[in-house]
Amino acid sequence: MQLRSKSPAATAEIAALLAGKLKAGDLLTLEGDLGAGKTTFTKALGKALGVRRTINSPTFTIIKEYVGDLPFYHMDAYRLEDTEEDLGFDEYFHGSGVTVVEWASYIEDYLPEKRLDIEISYEGEEERTLTFKARSAHFETICEEIYDEYSGD
Ligand code: ADP
Ligand code: MG
Repeated sequence: MQLRSKSPAATAEIAALLAGKLKAGDLLTLEGDLGAGKTTFTKALGKALGVRRTINSPTFTIIKEYVGDLPFYHMDAYRLEDTEEDLGFDEYFHGSGVTVVEWASYIEDYLPEKRLDIEISYEGEEERTLTFKARSAHFETICEEIYDEYSGD
């Protein structure tokens, strides 16, 4: 499923629509080049999940935990490339919160199969394409709903 975003606000709308449909234990991965909008998307998602604290990139901490309506975990796997060690990811992935993983390909072997993969691609200064790959029936339903509900404004 692909959606076109024509502004940061439109990307935030998509993230907020998604946030409203998530449940405990849901895992999202987020791919995209630097400046694509991963942090923009994650901030809007967290806000819609009821996180009040400012969400920053967790590059130097690997994972940041936030309190929201559900616990919200923001992970950056960039520094885990080629890691051989299972760092206890399951506690997050199967836990009581929502997890967003950036650079998820670096920990591919540890990722549960049931997840929503999201890729943001740069199309122009304010234009992005968001590609959603649902890897479970739960996320397929969510993607269909978002597709119907997104205003694109
Ligand atoms: P990343 O985390 O992927 O490196 P950021 O979210 O930090 O990217 O930065 C994206 C930048 O692009 C922000 O300055 C944002 O305002 C800008 N931008 C412009 N148009 C869009 C859009 N449609 N969606 C998301 N971000 C956009
Ligand atoms: Mg970022």
